[in-house]
Amino acid sequence: MPELPDITAYIRALEARIVGQAIEKIRLASPFLLRTVEPRIEEAEGRRVRELRRIGKRIAIGVEGDLWLVLHLMIAGRLHWKQAGAKLAGRQILAAFDFPNGSLVLTEAGTKHRASLYVVHEDGLEELDPGGIDVFNSTLESFRTALTSENRTLKRALTDPRIISGIGNAYSDEILHAAQLSPIAMTQKLKPEEWERLFTATRSTLRRWIDQFSAEAESRFPEKVTAFRKGMAVHGRYGETCPRCGETIQRIRYADNETNYCARCQTGGKVLADRSLSRLLGSDWPRTLDELEALKRR
Ligand SMILES: [Zn+2]
Repeated sequence: MPELPDITAYIRALEARIVGQAIEKIRLASPFLLRTVEPRIEEAEGRRVRELRRIGKRIAIGVEGDLWLVLHLMIAGRLHWKQAGAKLAGRQILAAFDFPNGSLVLTEAGTKHRASLYVVHEDGLEELDPGGIDVFNSTLESFRTALTSENRTLKRALTDPRIISGIGNAYSDEILHAAQLSPIAMTQKLKPEEWERLFTATRSTLRRWIDQFSAEAESRFPEKVTAFRKGMAVHGRYGETCPRCGETIQRIRYADNETNYCARCQTGGKVLADRSLSRLLGSDWPRTLDELEALKRR
């Protein structure tokens, strides 16, 4: 699922291309994508884009006349920048937004139809925001308050969009490795120095990837957004070696996903029992990413 660094890169790339441009035409290729009826999507046609905003893991495109197109890519949705008027060929294509200088094309792999588009007025944006804090506008204290609002595992708390904004499976793995904390540690049991490590690691890990992807987005549109990035320490690296200590990276599997961690760096050398563990943890573990991402504001 595109997370904060990926969404930021998309927004940077789009700002350079579509702010100030008029949407000439919106072509919907899938009946499942658009989730709102009013205001009508056609009302956005002929209007210029004023600004882009990130709302959690959503991309909001604001056009003249107080209309917002809010895209949620979920796990398999991706954006592409094509030549103006590009043909909508292929099952994966959900929609195209045509501008004079190019077409923004939305695709989604698979058949689950999770990606969504909402058309709202500005006062409807807040309702689409699951409400998690922005870690770059937080202090250690507000970060700690948000994450301890419920006693959760760190993995669950970091990936809950109602608690913290923009983090999913990939970057939570990277953050916990950088902080040298166990994914199953409970938030209400962390010591003060562990909070400091977690807060610093959350900001520095996200900052590093945001900076890298934003710089890349300056020169070309982010066409290859994936959860598995070269240079990640643990995520997607089960069985490979930890860049910090050289130990083999472990995993906890659940649904069709997994959490990766280094036992020596994060759990005092203890290898956590895979599937039975995720069952045991029940609601303290993210069940499916879709389910977690669909959580609404409290
Ligand atoms: Zn290690």
